[in-house]
Amino acid sequence: MESHQKDSLTGLANLSHFMEEAAALMQQEADSGRVAFVFFDVDNFKSFNKKYGFQNGNEFLKGIADLIGKAFPGRLSARLTDDHFAVMDYKENLDERVNMVLDGVKELRRSINAELKAGVYVPDSAIYNIALVMDRARMACESIKRAYDRNLRYYDWSLEQGLRLKNHVISDFHTALDNHYIQVFYQPEVRTLTKQICGYEALARWKDPVYGMLSPAVFIEVLESVHLIHLLDLYVIDEVCRLIGNMIKNGENPVSVSVNLSRLDFQLADMFEEIEKLREKYDVPARLLNIEVTESALDAEAELLRRQIDRFRENGYEVWMDDFGSGYSTLNNLKDYHFDVLKIDMNFLRDFGKKPQTRIILATIVDLAKELGMHTLAEGVETKEQFSFLRAIGCEKIQGYLFSKPLPLKEVKELDLPVEDVRQSAYYNALGRVNVLSDSPLRDRDGEYRLVSRISFAIVEQKGEHIDCLYANKAFGVFLQSVGLEMPSTLPAALERYIPVEDLRILRDFLAHCSRSDKEERMECIINSNRCSFSARRVASRNDGVVANALVAVRLP
Ligand code: C2E
Ligand code: CA
Ligand code: CA
Repeated sequence: MESHQKDSLTGLANLSHFMEEAAALMQQEADSGRVAFVFFDVDNFKSFNKKYGFQNGNEFLKGIADLIGKAFPGRLSARLTDDHFAVMDYKENLDERVNMVLDGVKELRRSINAELKAGVYVPDSAIYNIALVMDRARMACESIKRAYDRNLRYYDWSLEQGLRLKNHVISDFHTALDNHYIQVFYQPEVRTLTKQICGYEALARWKDPVYGMLSPAVFIEVLESVHLIHLLDLYVIDEVCRLIGNMIKNGENPVSVSVNLSRLDFQLADMFEEIEKLREKYDVPARLLNIEVTESALDAEAELLRRQIDRFRENGYEVWMDDFGSGYSTLNNLKDYHFDVLKIDMNFLRDFGKKPQTRIILATIVDLAKELGMHTLAEGVETKEQFSFLRAIGCEKIQGYLFSKPLPLKEVKELDLPVEDVRQSAYYNALGRVNVLSDSPLRDRDGEYRLVSRISFAIVEQKGEHIDCLYANKAFGVFLQSVGLEMPSTLPAALERYIPVEDLRILRDFLAHCSRSDKEERMECIINSNRCSFSARRVASRNDGVVANALVAVRLP
């Protein structure tokens, strides 16, 4: 290869050389149907450059070129532009060679979530137009962008249909806004304690005269990809503010409405300022607007987003985390951002009937949220059984087909479901803060993050006459004090040191009894003239005769 045919960074062919050579090779291979084109693209390469600088970015690209050279020796390969590479090869066992490159890149990308993606097109016979061929390979590659479980895709016809729809969305978006093809549907949010509607979520619908009803699943992503999504979101919020403003003007009971913001909105516009303008235009109090941000939004531009979230909250809006549990950085987000409400992703409920683990997960999320001072809402509730369970664990609000699917407001109203008086909302929100799952549900946990248990609990080991206290919680210490004994200060400390011998004998006999039993045992005794109750259950035993019992103590009145 001559130098003007080469990409100076990687030494692979450059774009124009690749196109020329590929066209020539295709002539020779005409009609063979054996040739395949691979298009490679790095997902998230920008972040890599941002974090490690251009120099390292260039090294990364060279690394990819080396991998391609090794996996496809002697084949035509090129860096087309930026982080885009192409290879022309035969289709036999192609996946193996492509995967060699994809796997190799995983070692190069450091801590950045930069994945290499590959799209493959095997041209039908008699397609000589290399530009078209490369477009199709690229289309396959783009279709799996940001799909974290998929790095390789072959071109097929469905991609073409998707593309047509995508182009339609892009070209007709403004027309759709102007002609109100885009409408806002409302789905009730229902308070579990009262079964009353306590708010709505606004969801966009596009009723297209040609394509029919388009789901947000189709157009949101497209609008994001061409950076128009903020216009849709502001359109929806305008509609919502007008609705609430009219309710207030007409002396009706206004309701709060949650609106969805996309991750990109925050980069495309000053959402806070824009929403404030709309709020003022229709004279809507901020507390009636809830801002939903999806978890995936939190990956990018963390600092910017944190400031925006705080700004909304400082000005009286509630900020809700949408789709909680669906992403991978979930739990960390809870300490890094402040949210008023966790919306639990509906996927947890999908297996509700089949997998009992689901209940534990849901209960644990609700418990966690409340201990952190957040409200909870479960999405996708479809059955009465799910509803009763969520109510029982103290999940405050639910949303789902059980009550209503998203509908035009007029149709929701026709369902005639009872609606909460907005003046009572603060009252019910305060009730919702109670953690019914806690063993200290009476505790006021305002602004404090402390783990406290009121149950006096210890784990004791017993071997013959000897008793060791392996673990005791604070409440156990309080119990000991209340019956005139001291808390063991160092562990393992022998309980014997603190309990008078005559009481200890009873306790030892009791524990010995538990050690032989398969169920929970209970006894009452007097310690320093205090009536006490002990419950215990064997939890494990060793082959040297040591048995461990879990022990709960209660001082009786
Ligand atoms: P999301 O915010 O998680 O909205 C909930 C989705 O679940 C809605 O789908 C709703 O119709 C559906 N759903 C509600 N209850 C049930 C149920 O009981 N069972 C089942 N299977 N599904 C239920 P939809 O309206 O198709 O919206 C999909 C996603 O599109 C939304 O997910 C949201 O992320 C996005 N979206 C919708 N409207 C907007 C918008 O105006 N702006 C932005 N940025 N995103 C929007
Ligand atoms: Ca939402
Ligand atoms: Ca959601």
